[in-house]
Amino acid sequence: MTASVPSHADIVVIGGGIIGCSTAYHLARDHRANVVVLEQNQLTSGSTWHAAGLVGQLRSSASITQLLKYSVDLYSRLEAETGLATGWKMTGCLRLACNDDRWTEFKRLATTARSFGMDMQLLSPAEVKAMWPLMMVDDLIGASFLPSDGQASPSDIAQALAKGARAHGAVFHESLRVEGFDIAEGRVKAVRTREGTIACDKVVNCAGLWARDVGALAGVSVPLQAVMHQYLITEPIAGLARDVATVRDPDRRTYFKEEVGGLVMGGYEPDPRPWLVDPAPSDFAFQLLEDNWEHFEQHMIQALARVPALERTGIKRMIHGPESFTPDGNFILGRAPELDNFFVGAGFNAFGIASAGGAGWALAQWVVAGEAPLDLWVVDIRRFAGLHRDQAFVRERTLEAYGRHYAIAYPHEEYESGRPRLISPLYGRLRARHACFGSKLGWERANWFAATGTEAEDVPSMGRQNWFAAVGEEHRAVRDAVGLFDQSSFAKFELAGPAASEALSLICANDVTRPPGRITYTQLLNRRGGIEADLTVARLAEDRFYIVTGTGFRTHDFGWIRDRLPSDSDLALTDVTEAFATLSLMGPRSRAVLSALTDVDLSNAAFPFGHVATINAAGAAVRVLRVTYVGELGYELHVPVDGAAELFDALMAAGAAHGLRLAGYRALESLRLEKFYRAWGSDITANDNPFEAGLGGFVKLAKDLPFIGRKALEEAATRPLHKQLCGFTTEDRDIVLVGRETILRNGEFAGYLTSGGFGYTVDAPIGMGYVRNPQGVSDDWLSTGRYELVVANENVAATIHRSPLYDPAGLKVRGAPGSNSRPT
Ligand SMILES: Cc1cc2nc3c(=O)[nH]c(=O)nc-3n(C[C@H](O)[C@H](O)[C@H](O)COP(=O)(O)OP(=O)(O)OC[C@H]3O[C@@H](n4cnc5c(N)ncnc54)[C@H](O)[C@@H]3O)c2cc1C
Repeated sequence: MTASVPSHADIVVIGGGIIGCSTAYHLARDHRANVVVLEQNQLTSGSTWHAAGLVGQLRSSASITQLLKYSVDLYSRLEAETGLATGWKMTGCLRLACNDDRWTEFKRLATTARSFGMDMQLLSPAEVKAMWPLMMVDDLIGASFLPSDGQASPSDIAQALAKGARAHGAVFHESLRVEGFDIAEGRVKAVRTREGTIACDKVVNCAGLWARDVGALAGVSVPLQAVMHQYLITEPIAGLARDVATVRDPDRRTYFKEEVGGLVMGGYEPDPRPWLVDPAPSDFAFQLLEDNWEHFEQHMIQALARVPALERTGIKRMIHGPESFTPDGNFILGRAPELDNFFVGAGFNAFGIASAGGAGWALAQWVVAGEAPLDLWVVDIRRFAGLHRDQAFVRERTLEAYGRHYAIAYPHEEYESGRPRLISPLYGRLRARHACFGSKLGWERANWFAATGTEAEDVPSMGRQNWFAAVGEEHRAVRDAVGLFDQSSFAKFELAGPAASEALSLICANDVTRPPGRITYTQLLNRRGGIEADLTVARLAEDRFYIVTGTGFRTHDFGWIRDRLPSDSDLALTDVTEAFATLSLMGPRSRAVLSALTDVDLSNAAFPFGHVATINAAGAAVRVLRVTYVGELGYELHVPVDGAAELFDALMAAGAAHGLRLAGYRALESLRLEKFYRAWGSDITANDNPFEAGLGGFVKLAKDLPFIGRKALEEAATRPLHKQLCGFTTEDRDIVLVGRETILRNGEFAGYLTSGGFGYTVDAPIGMGYVRNPQGVSDDWLSTGRYELVVANENVAATIHRSPLYDPAGLKVRGAPGSNSRPT
């Protein structure tokens, strides 16, 4: 061990790119942490030095947009703070639209920007021409302009962050590669380098495209794929202003940025090329890949049509470098589920410069506090699962995501690659009945069923979709008769052991200690009182619980529970997702259909809402949960996979006399919106507490039972609410709501929709969203406003709703007037 390399550090950050530098800066500045940064080569020598430097801010997630706004704010101050130039210029960004669907996308984006507190303007081609005289605009319908976007010098920003970090005590070691980890009891104890071992409390993997290899050294999966990305830099161009806006021209798949009087021009091709080196060479520092003009030609052709001056301009150089991309185009942040103290900040999908400031800020807090400072679900490493350890799958899906980078973002679009991956035992049967499938965390799931003679295929559209009528039929069948949903992809866990009740009670905000046979709908809260998960807990026995949660939340929710169980107990938490298929039989005729398969008394008195029982049906022991996400009498049938097909066939046969219809996830969405049932990840997140979400009735504050988040909620209960989740409908039934539409109260900004869709029973577009007011949102204040929604930049009259649109008293579900329709 050399004198300069410490034997211990509180936190070791691996990687001296812009993400590692920003994370170290924030750890040192905000948390006074004892941080050591290890860089295998020199700072910025990975992807950072060759980035183009465009800094955009608007994303479809409010939290990620908040992080990018933070970056812009930080970059504009960093030079003054550190004395190092950063090249930051707030030039604004133009996005060009050449067709109607793109224009609709931009009108929706402008609305999203307003929802997230930014001013995105929509410009005419003439206005674009006035701003950017060298640009041809004859094919434009218009453009969006976000004035606060800009550009920066990536290496300079990273160096300034490193200088700032050093000023706050962080120590950087270059030419020192992390070669392994000492791991014991689920924790990294030390980081190994050729110069010795550094004992540490926490590790942060910011190793860029090497992050997958670094993760593998610790058994941690970091699902990313390096992809080759090219742009060129031209000689100076006469007439190009130094402060001209950056340009994204998605219909031509190209982007532009001014640089030293010339242009940077690059693009996102539909046929990207992975960088197939495994492992990535550790000495790839300040290096580029060989120019590939043949592949770049597609961008050149498009760019020349947009900026003809390029034809007369010399090319200074081509930059061709690898960058890490991910299967869903979002970066990867947070604590790895495999280890207690291993964090990741990687996979930045060519917006790492734009993200670094905010991502470093958030990651630093996550590392120190153990919880994300705000809802970061879309970038959370726990959004992945076992299938993401398969690099072939990751590569294929990542290339698809890259290829779509500049494609029009149609609502409800599904990825196509790597499918089918995980299928339920009923897949073949559903397929034979014309299911149109979507995929969620690898699972094929029926979204809707096509009528005989029509294609079971989504046709992308910005307006009403081709499946609108078919989903309406499914919806009505559930409301009027009975529908059958295959929800086998539900994540399912069992917790068993003598202390199960006590341990789970501490993790759940609602009371799960009720007797065996009862089901509890509950949230899991973080210490701030934010909603980290939303689950159904069925008590099977004194010492045994069955936990059901959403398909996509499998890794996250399992990890959340496991990490909070007492380590010294003999509790067993098991993921039984693949052991059970789930058929949801929902609708007023559901009891009649199920009764045809069993002698068990299913009457309200014998088997009330919120109860669980095992019954024999179609030759299988079926775990039946009397719950609903659609607001009807219904049964979730959890059946061992071997018995699923037989049960399905029996239900279909018995259901024929009762008008049973297969239904998919799109109908489920419509049905749950009418009931204002919340969806975790959109309507309820770590940013929202149960009172704000209207779920205060599912919190055991009145009982003398401790639970995580209780203190925060007790405090919150003494303060006025500043936001409240409400429902909205528009009178105009042809309005298409997709989420993120701005809510106006008396003409003023009051929030945005977290969900949007259509309710076929109420025959109206439905949205849900938090109505906000810094002075408080009393019932009186909420009900006295005049509401509008901004939909694709147009104001539309709307009605606010404080209780479900369909069966507000929950009579359909429970048959008891005034009761709520979720198990309390
Ligand atoms: C051509 C191109 C253009 C781009 N344009 C833009 C743009 O306009 N705007 C934008 O926002 N983003 C852009 N990007 C993306 C941006 O460059 C990246 O997202 C960003 O640099 C990622 O930073 P990082 O710190 O994660 O990775 P890196 O900069 O690669 O840093 C990771 C570091 O970890 C080190 N390391 C790896 N393994 C080890 C180990 N075992 N031990 C110690 N150190 C290790 C590496 O040496 C490296 O220095 C572009 C990328 C490319 C390729």
